[in-house]
Amino acid sequence: MRVPRAFVEEARGRCNPDEECAALLFGVGDAARRWAWMENAARSPVEFRLDPERVYRAIADAERLGLELVAIFHTHPGAPVPSPLDLRHMAMWPVVWIIGDVRTMELRAWRLERGVLREVDIYIS
Ligand SMILES: [Zn+2]
Repeated sequence: MRVPRAFVEEARGRCNPDEECAALLFGVGDAARRWAWMENAARSPVEFRLDPERVYRAIADAERLGLELVAIFHTHPGAPVPSPLDLRHMAMWPVVWIIGDVRTMELRAWRLERGVLREVDIYIS
């Protein structure tokens, strides 16, 4: 998964431990080119929930530019590994899931393939 350095810098600037922060990343293949920050409707430091209407609007905007949803990003208050709740949502949204440790902004990427969790390499450039 290729992630622009500018995205990581924005995440460092805007994500904080008060609530999980989330974004959708759009691109082609395994390369993210654009992203849309999403409001966390759960307003929780340990959970995130996205407004489906905003998600679909962001996807439609990206599709008009010829881009598809390639990854879903959110932060954790700790280790950037999927929670049981994340795994349930990953089954419904089978793209790469990038999780950031909000304290260090260490990023790790994951994909659920036929029920098996696999880590995906991240290249920041
Ligand atoms: Zn999570």
